[in-house]
Amino acid sequence: MKKDICPICGGVKTESETSFTANYKQGVIIVKEVPATVCQQCGEEWISDAVATKLEEIVITVKKQRQDFFVAKYNNYSLAS
Ligand SMILES: [Zn+2]
Repeated sequence: MKKDICPICGGVKTESETSFTANYKQGVIIVKEVPATVCQQCGEEWISDAVATKLEEIVITVKKQRQDFFVAKYNNYSLAS
């Protein structure tokens, strides 16, 4: 594992959680408790590629359902096919 140092401020990045919000023409999607790495100094957040991919899939799925307002917890959300 490489050392997690913030490239912006040089602070220490730690494992944490964030929330993800996507706005689209029909409504709003909010996914809570998304695993992220957060800089303790400046608050910048990073999301891993795997997490970002799942968030994209959630957005695509919710858009298909045409919901105006959608809130989910990241870990509770499983993509039904
Ligand atoms: Zn920082």
